[in-house]
Amino acid sequence: APVQTAHHRILLKLSGEALMGDDAYGINHATIQRIVGEIAEVTRLGVELAVVIGGGNIFRGVAGGSVGMDRATADYMGMLATVMNALALADTMNKAGLTARVMSAIAIEQVVEPYVRPKALQYLEEGKVVVFAAGTGNPFFTTDTAAALRGAEIGADVVLKATKVDGVYTADPKKDPTATRYHRISFDEAMARNLGIMDATAFALCRDQKLPIKVFSIFKAGALRRVVLGEDEGTLVHV
Ligand code: UDP
Repeated sequence: APVQTAHHRILLKLSGEALMGDDAYGINHATIQRIVGEIAEVTRLGVELAVVIGGGNIFRGVAGGSVGMDRATADYMGMLATVMNALALADTMNKAGLTARVMSAIAIEQVVEPYVRPKALQYLEEGKVVVFAAGTGNPFFTTDTAAALRGAEIGADVVLKATKVDGVYTADPKKDPTATRYHRISFDEAMARNLGIMDATAFALCRDQKLPIKVFSIFKAGALRRVVLGEDEGTLVHV
């Protein structure tokens, strides 16, 4: 019999930095392989999975802005960086036996297909992993907001926010040894406590759409699988 999973259609947000490993920049081969391994494991459980990938390991708009670049131009560079990560991720997935499709919010026809919602839905129903590239396609936004947006559009039942820490804590666990992990927290309480789970735009969109967010560590082996199985892992931000 198929395994009972807690989620059926998932939007996974991976930051660009998740691909860096211990490197200072770019994509670390062993790290991307390991992440794809974790993703492959959950697709075998029968869940539908879409990924929004960041670009911070290559370029961030704020970095360009800080050296005097036009912010919108720098943001377009950041979005192009996410396309590179998406290509690397999809390539690694395809080599690992998954079927991945990249869809870009910015038209770069010769490189990746454009984002078309019904097509994305079709791919998911076919069991393909869809990698959403180029964020929302708009400057002044983030890939966290793209994750909330695409998550809502595809009717995901959860946005999984992959971080370095295994959940949301009462304080910074690196600075405060008494810090404890929230197993669950409401949007309202997270906001009142200023926990900074996602940027304000992404957070507000998830809250409005009643789309829960699960914060978990992508560096903890098996954590993604445990999240999908509904085991006590990470922090659930709920309505
Ligand atoms: N970006 C943007 N609009 C979007 C998504 C991303 O302009 O909808 C740009 C922005 O400059 C951002 C960069 O792309 O700094 C990389 O995305 P992000 O910082 O969200 O990546 P992550 O931190 O997840 O690696």
